[in-house]
Order: sequence, then C-alpha cells, then structure tokens
Amino acid sequence: MALSRSLEKGQTLVLCQFCENDSKITKKCLDCKLLLCAKCSNKLHAMVKGAGDHTIVNIRSLGPQHSVEIKDFRSIKCKQHPTQTACLFCSTCEQSACPTCVTKVHKKHNIVDFQDVYQLKVERLHCGQGKVENNYKELARRDNNLDHIKTEENSRLSNIRESIRDRALLIKSEVDECACRLISEVDVENAKFDRTIQNEHSALDGIKTQLNGQRQKVQDMTESNDMVQFFAKIVDVTKSIEDCLPPTYSITRELQFLPGLAFHPSVVGEILHENENCEYKPKLEITRKYVSEYDVIQFLISGPDNSLWYSININKKVLEKVTLAEEQLESVSSKEIMIYGLAFVPGYGLLLSTDQERLKIIPENSDEILDSRFAVDILEPKCIHLTKDNKLAIGAKSKGPLYPASGQRVVILMDMEGNKLSTFEFNQKGERLFTNPWGIASTTNGHVFILDRIDSNCEGRLVILKREDGSVIDIYNGREGSYFVPRGIVATEADNIIITDSDDPEISLHILDSSGKLISYYNTRDIGIEKPFSMTFAANGHFYIGGSTIKDSGNKSELFELDFFEI
Ligand SMILES: [Zn+2]
Ligand SMILES: [Zn+2]
Ligand SMILES: [Zn+2]
Ligand SMILES: [Zn+2]
Repeated sequence: MALSRSLEKGQTLVLCQFCENDSKITKKCLDCKLLLCAKCSNKLHAMVKGAGDHTIVNIRSLGPQHSVEIKDFRSIKCKQHPTQTACLFCSTCEQSACPTCVTKVHKKHNIVDFQDVYQLKVERLHCGQGKVENNYKELARRDNNLDHIKTEENSRLSNIRESIRDRALLIKSEVDECACRLISEVDVENAKFDRTIQNEHSALDGIKTQLNGQRQKVQDMTESNDMVQFFAKIVDVTKSIEDCLPPTYSITRELQFLPGLAFHPSVVGEILHENENCEYKPKLEITRKYVSEYDVIQFLISGPDNSLWYSININKKVLEKVTLAEEQLESVSSKEIMIYGLAFVPGYGLLLSTDQERLKIIPENSDEILDSRFAVDILEPKCIHLTKDNKLAIGAKSKGPLYPASGQRVVILMDMEGNKLSTFEFNQKGERLFTNPWGIASTTNGHVFILDRIDSNCEGRLVILKREDGSVIDIYNGREGSYFVPRGIVATEADNIIITDSDDPEISLHILDSSGKLISYYNTRDIGIEKPFSMTFAANGHFYIGGSTIKDSGNKSELFELDFFEI
C-alpha cells in the first residue's frame, strides 16, 4: 500500500517528449525511447536526421493497462554510492547507477531511462499477473478434477473390494465342493465295508450251524449203546469234527485321508501397489464439433473468454478469432495476414509471427494489430511458443529460401521484457539443429520440443533440448519405417507431448513423455477425427483439435472440442 501510494504521488501528467506541447500520447519511438503525440509520430519525428527507419509503436502495444504517466524517480539512489542520486538504470546489471558509475562500472552496458525500464517492468508484471490469473483458473480446474478423480477412484476401489469378496466366495464354494466329493468317496467305501462285514457274519453263522450239528453228533455217539452204529460212523464223525475252521476273515482297511497343501493366501490373490503394466492410455471424448470456412486450421490457439484464434497461410492468408456458439463458430474478427505462429500471452495479448522481424501483438480487448516488444533482429520469425513459466520461444531463420538450410536456423528464448535469454542453433558437435522450426512445445522440467521440417514435403523430426544448456536430449523421427510428417505440437497439463500426424494411415497422434520417450500412439479416426492438424489446450480445460482436409477436395476443415483425460 505504502509503495503504491508513493507511486501515485509521484505521477505527473506526461507531455509529448518531442514537442513538449501535446499531452495526448499515442506512440513511442523504440529507438529514441520517446513518448510521442500523434502529430510528432506522423510528421515531426521523421524529419529528424536518421530517424526515418525508427520503430514507432502504438503505446497500447506496450501492454493493455500500460500507464504513460511519468513517475518520479528522483529519490532513487545509486546502488554503489547511496548518497548520490541515480540518474539511470543499467539493465545489464539490473541496478541503478549514478553518472560516475555509468561511466566507470557500466561502460558498454545497456543503460536505460528509469521511465523506460519502469514501463518494461510494469508490462512484465502485467504478463506475470496474467499468468497468475491463468494459474488460478487452472488450479480451480485441478481442484474440481480432484473431486472427479476421487469419485472415480472410490468406485474403482469398491469394485476391487467386490472382486476380492467374489474371489473368496468362489474359493469357499470350490473348497466345499471338493470336501463333499472326498466325503462321498468315504461314504462309498464305508458302505462297501459294511457289506463285507455282513458277508463275514453270514459265513460265520453257516459255520456255527455246522458246529452245532457236529456237537450234536458227538453227543449222540457218546450216548449211543448201539455199537454197530457206533463203529459204522466213528471214522466219519471223528474226521468231521476234527476239520479245521476256514481261515479268519481278511478285511482290508486301506482308506486314508491325506490332507492337502496348507491354505495359501496367494490362492485368493494379492494387492499390487504399483501398476507395473500401466500403459499410458489417454481418453479423448468429443464434446462439440464445428465446421470452419477453410480447408485447414493451421495454427490454433485459445484466447481469453473461451475465444479461439486460428490461422491459415496456405492458398489463403487469414487470421480469425471465433467464439464457440452452440451450433456454429461465430467469427469475432477476420484479418488477412501471413501467420507463421501464434502465442497468447495472458495480460498482454495475442502475439503473431508474421513476415516481419518484429512480432505483432493484438492486445487483449482490442482488435488492432500493433508492433510488440519482441523482435529477432535480422531474422525472420517462424513458430512462437509461450512456455509454462512465461518465456517466449521463437523459431527463426535467416532471410532467403527455406530449403536447403542456409544462414541461421535458430530457436531464441526471451523473457517477457523481450530480452534474449538463449539461442539454440547447434548441437554439441557444432552441427545445425534445425532446418525450418515449425512448432514448439515445452514441459515444466525445462525441456523444449521443436518440430523441425527438413524439406518441402514437410517431412520432419522432433528435436528435444534441455533449456538450461541447449544440449540435445533426444531426436524423435516418428514411427519406424514410416514417413514422419508432423503437423502440430502441444504439451499436456501432465507434461506429455502430443504431435499430430495426418498422413500416417494407422495412427494420428504421437504421445511422448517429458523426456521425449514415446509412450503411446492414438488414432483419432476411431473417434471421428480424420486429419488432425493443430491443437491447443484452453484455460477452461478443454482440448481443441483443428483439422485439415484432403487437398483440393473442396471440403471444409472441422474444429473439435474435446475432453482429454490422462489418468
Ligand atoms: Zn508532440
Ligand atoms: Zn526515434
Ligand atoms: Zn554510483
Ligand atoms: Zn551495468
């Protein structure tokens, strides 16, 4: 609060820094760093010797909430000499400096006015603010998503619980069945045994009857007085009573029970805590589908308030902003302009890579195309990409024919003030990395993925770089044995990389992880997307795919809104 109040107090009305008359500032000369009124920017300024080719930009391009009010910087002291008033700012050292320091310490450094550096910092703050707002939205979505995941996982775990119970019931019933079978086997044996015993009893009874007869005969013989009879029978009777008994019964009792293996928990199953064969299987569901007026949606980017920008530079040159109505695309604006790349910077606007060195900007809440603060000097900008940490990556090449590669073919990384942070051009062996940088994506682990076209047939490859030192992590050349014609590239929220490929008849998406390792293919034809080309994720969480059509078929390309599930 204290700071903002002191800044407010320091505000004074700005006059044109050229004529010092008019207070209606509309332009700024980036070379002289002067704020200009309309009259000066149109006429007077150009009359200054050598100022003919100065870059004069609309101040609105310097940020939507750009303040042209001049602040009072007089109380800022020199970093080295706290008693001295700092007159200038060294942007090389990022510190304030007094005149002595400027000439001694900061010689050859980039010395700028406080007003200029202040404006740049404020503009970067706005971009940062846009980023924060976007992060808020994303967090809200992730929050919602958590509930969704929770519901899903709870029901999945319930199913697992049910499966365990089912498994236990199955095993129990199998155990019961097995025990029953064994018991009935015992029953059969038991009945057989009972019958054997019964037969033995009968046999014994027979012998007993025989013995009774013999006993009777002996008694009759000993009591008989008829000696004729006695001697007639004595031999037989003696013989019969001395007969031996048949051998005792031989009853076998073989049946036994041998208990089986002890119960083992593995029969029921086990809980795996890591799903080792968990394949990455993204789920794509089309929620809405539109038909555009063009035969291809070449570059596609989501803007604020559910708007989308797309462009075409084949046959036609169009940049179109649309909103998605229930049934159809509603055109908000349409411009004829050559586009090589689009990037939306929240808090700033839509950056355009056109056929000029300086990137153009359509500020938020505006429809004007203005010069931006991002330029690639003597090169031609190609694809552009905003990283997840608000850095701008610009693919660029030297002027001249696209193929074969000659001159410089680079990817430049800039901060939101337009300062160059690094330039990627060669690999560790000093060989050229790119021919025609066509698309860029990045992941939060600091890897940059550059789709590079190598010839006029649009054959391409993916170069994966470590942002920190520009070293090559990997190069992906598509499916083995097939011609790789990558179209669009985008990073998902989970930091995977998707590349569209509309020429391969079997697959149309290549999905790589954040180290550039292929994790899956996907065929969008399965869900009705024949020739996917461009892609973008919107702040509302939707995934959009812009299609292409068969050349000269007269068909119109489609635009799909999808839900994209990575878990
Ligand atoms: Zn003026
Ligand atoms: Zn100038
Ligand atoms: Zn000093
Ligand atoms: Zn310095």
